[in-house]
Amino acid sequence: MKPTKNSTLEIISPKVHVDDEFIETDYEYQTSHVKRTATGQLQVHPRTTSLKIRTARNVPKLGVMLVGWGGNNGSTLTAALEANRRQLQWRKKTGVQQANWFGSITQASTVFVGSDETGTDVYVPMKELLPMAEPNDIIVDGWDISGKHLGDAMRRAEVLDVALQDQLYEQLSAMKPRPSIYDPDFIAANQLDRADNLIKGTKFEQYEQVRRDIRDFKQRSGVETVIVLWTANTERFSEVLPGLNTTSQELQSSLKANKSEISPSTIFAMASIAEGCTYINGSPQNTFVPGLIELAEEQRVFIAGDDFKSGQTKIKSVLVDFLVGAGIKPVSIVSYNHLGNNDGKNLSAPQQFRSKEISKSNVVDDMVASNSVLYKPDEHPDHVVVIKYVPYVGDSKRAMDEYTSEIMMGGHNTLVIHNTCEDSLLATPLILDLVILAELSARIQLRSAEKELAPWVPFKPVLSLLSYLCKAPLVPTGSQVVNSLFRQRAAIENILRGCIGLPPISHLSLEQRFD
Ligand code: NAD
Repeated sequence: MKPTKNSTLEIISPKVHVDDEFIETDYEYQTSHVKRTATGQLQVHPRTTSLKIRTARNVPKLGVMLVGWGGNNGSTLTAALEANRRQLQWRKKTGVQQANWFGSITQASTVFVGSDETGTDVYVPMKELLPMAEPNDIIVDGWDISGKHLGDAMRRAEVLDVALQDQLYEQLSAMKPRPSIYDPDFIAANQLDRADNLIKGTKFEQYEQVRRDIRDFKQRSGVETVIVLWTANTERFSEVLPGLNTTSQELQSSLKANKSEISPSTIFAMASIAEGCTYINGSPQNTFVPGLIELAEEQRVFIAGDDFKSGQTKIKSVLVDFLVGAGIKPVSIVSYNHLGNNDGKNLSAPQQFRSKEISKSNVVDDMVASNSVLYKPDEHPDHVVVIKYVPYVGDSKRAMDEYTSEIMMGGHNTLVIHNTCEDSLLATPLILDLVILAELSARIQLRSAEKELAPWVPFKPVLSLLSYLCKAPLVPTGSQVVNSLFRQRAAIENILRGCIGLPPISHLSLEQRFD
């Protein structure tokens, strides 16, 4: 069985069945269940559950609607899709550069598939594991409160090399963001001068307009599936109050009653859910108030977020995992950022900074909680995040981190990291992965193989599989948040492997270690 048309991979297994519609596998799912006894003993029960996993093979024509299309990320994604589609190249001081998708796990990372007869590990690109949307086939549309066309938006962003921009300008100039919902109470006052492309009316009328926009895009472009993704400015947190937004009913009534505390991003998410479109939040604000989560669950539409995990937080979720896993105790983590793009300008306002601070602050919690040798219950490292707006550095964000840890016998280890890179060139490939993996998730289902005629079940509406790409992962009620980057990536790899009948990667390599 070849999982995709162009895959170099062929799975030879009686447990994998393929027809025109599905790839179906028989899967033995191994877990261990822990019981605590009255005396504090831990009784561990290994379990094996027989499952069937199936993946629909037909990849729908995918459309992506970006809220904040004319921003640095939105314009860079649009330019990158075109540049890759046209396989553009351009001259830099150092030579000729080709368009690529470096930084995207689906396009530029590989997955271990097994070892050959000489014991050498063999890898394939992640995108060859299962049928996934091709970036070249994705169609983009979206909204922005700034009416500049995408050519000018790309120039304003100052992200891409000019020689590349010049090749794309004309094509991008034909793309214009749809008017959007502007509420100065939610983003920084310093954004006022770009707000010239607005949907008027009450909140309910704005919601209706967004719904019409989604339908209009679908009809004009002929896409079969639309994913809506927020890459607009960071909003302040909304208040969460009984009677306002704690249930789906409250939220819908509050929208109709034009309650001021319903944020633009929550209106976009509600409209997206009403149109049956997956909604992804790339910024830190609490778009997903409890009533919104309930709405997504009732309508069985995917939601995922929050906040792209692109730079400093990504490193943090690796480094703290390494330190705590090594039995070393981080006691102080201090992160300074300065950036000069419009995101930085918006974050220079206290309420919007607060959203980012909250999103960045919980990233080490699960790793700290995992090690009761190092940390007492409720003990945490000091963790401080500072963000400053420095216009001159533009999109070239600086992140400086100091990690101080206790080592053996009261010794100390201090690690200092200085990270410089174009912020939007890190975030853009994540947007691509988010939409490709979200679309794929809609085609994966599983069922028990132990019960006759057990129904096929999809992923839960809160799509935690995308946690790898999110700073503050949203998970289904009652599930644990995983921040560790290795665990998040392993979850993606192993689920994709499971879909084609391969066991999870165990790193046991017994055949190489035993005689
Ligand atoms: P940006 O300021 O360049 O772009 C945001 C765009 O959103 C602007 O064009 C603005 O006009 C528009 N906008 C604001 N409110 C809007 C609304 N209600 N409806 C439609 N458009 C609206 O910012 P960016 O660098 O592209 O980042 C976008 C978001 O992604 C920010 O919230 C940022 O915090 C988040 N983020 C970025 C990164 C990264 O770039 N590495 C990482 C994590 C999160």
